[in-house]
Amino acid sequence: KKASIGVTGLAVMGRNLARNLARHGHTVALHNRSDQRTRDLVEEFGSEGDFVPAYSAKDFVAALDRPRQVVIMVKAGAPTDAVIEEFAPLLEKGDVIVDAGNAHFADTRRREAALRERGLHFVGAGVSGGEEGALHGPSIMPGGSAESYESLGPLFEDISAKVDGTPCCAHIGPDGAGHFVKMVHNGIEYSDMQLIAESFDLLRGAAGFEPARIAEVFRTWNTGRLDSYLIEITAEVLGHVDAATGKPFVDVVADRAEQKGTGRWTVQIGLDLGIPITGIAEATFARSLSGHTELRASARGLSGPSRTPLAGAEAERFADDVEQALYASKVVAYAQGFNQIQAASAEYDWNIDLGAVASIWRGGCIIRATFLDDIRVAFEAEPTLPTLLTSGDFRKAVEEAQDAWRSVVSTAVRLGIPTPGFSTALAYYDELRAQRLPAALIQGQRDYFGAHTYQRVDREGSFHTEWATEARAERPA
Ligand code: NDP
Repeated sequence: KKASIGVTGLAVMGRNLARNLARHGHTVALHNRSDQRTRDLVEEFGSEGDFVPAYSAKDFVAALDRPRQVVIMVKAGAPTDAVIEEFAPLLEKGDVIVDAGNAHFADTRRREAALRERGLHFVGAGVSGGEEGALHGPSIMPGGSAESYESLGPLFEDISAKVDGTPCCAHIGPDGAGHFVKMVHNGIEYSDMQLIAESFDLLRGAAGFEPARIAEVFRTWNTGRLDSYLIEITAEVLGHVDAATGKPFVDVVADRAEQKGTGRWTVQIGLDLGIPITGIAEATFARSLSGHTELRASARGLSGPSRTPLAGAEAERFADDVEQALYASKVVAYAQGFNQIQAASAEYDWNIDLGAVASIWRGGCIIRATFLDDIRVAFEAEPTLPTLLTSGDFRKAVEEAQDAWRSVVSTAVRLGIPTPGFSTALAYYDELRAQRLPAALIQGQRDYFGAHTYQRVDREGSFHTEWATEARAERPA
């Protein structure tokens, strides 16, 4: 029996994706650069379904039904190009190559264009959910041609996570759209994690709660509108006690957050597209800052305000306020991330359905949350919504949260507790709703030193003022 799909690259992600496919009754061809991984998979998990192990690229391709569907799950970058070059010459017109690794969307666009010339479909598919997700149901974001999705879609939808019976997999759009959306997912994940971390820091530094107590707070939050995978695991991590020292686990971990690069990509592209994704940017910079050990050591002696933590009922109330600040900041971060997808969709003609994106992020992926169902509803009601912040329910919730949000940020400022995520989110909210921005003054400065011209609120056209002359006459530019 021929395989309906093949997976090459059988490290943790590829292996689990292959097992997930086989467990769903699909015959899966297996291949890996070094044979041992293939042998191990068949030996350990061969009983889970129909696997066809192959020990050469030629045998692997021969094992596949047409149109052949080859999923590449190898280290992103040059290894992906190497594997594409190994298989493309063996494939025929109409066959599909899927890159399910974490590729940069620009690489995916390049690869897609090159393979299209050769008559092959190239699908850049974002896969989120880590190794557990890959095995039990990830969120899958495939790009590429609509035609490729006809054969690939049913398989991927079959193995994806389900929410209310709906698969967490949908065709995102042409060429790099899938990997772009996966990248923004990861950027939003950075932002979510930063906001949660700031909440923890505030509950500890301002309210004086111990980690175990904070774990309880998160557990409670997880039963409300913040219900999400990240809040759930945060409670687990905070409740964990280090066996060796008996201290809270969070106190024995070095406070340097690492990153693999998708947050950075999101910020870089946000700058290119001119979309202020300040929540993701602050989260990414906060990770960088945490890693500057020597810089931090040299500045640790700088003085701050005297810190008298809140107590009693005030501390309890503060915890409720932090929930509101977290919620409102999270709405801002998602609003910004969805704006970035909207902008890229327009720039590259992807025609991305934002409601569908929110829908497939509801399950399987790291940012999965009930919150995403509200976002799905908002975009389904108004597909061209300019910002989530103005959609009915979100607008109401954020407006209601804003007093608490402002109070939390001012308490943080007063006590000297850094909240870059909360603060930037609030600043964005205030910037967006401003009647007038000081950008007018910036235009004046630019015209003064560089004759860059400006526009007026009351007349069409561009103008320049003769700043060097006494008369400061204005003329059309
Ligand atoms: P790794 O990223 O560690 O990659 C290891 C695999 O790549 C092995 O199968 C290895 O083969 C193969 N490989 C490396 N270089 C080459 C090459 N030049 N030619 C052929 N094969 C090569 O594996 P993961 O399973 O962790 O991740 C796979 C992909 O999925 C990556 O792109 C990753 O970014 C992405 N991803 C990972 C997630 C995770 O949680 N780990 C989550 C979501 C996406 P060999 O065995 O011969 O060394």
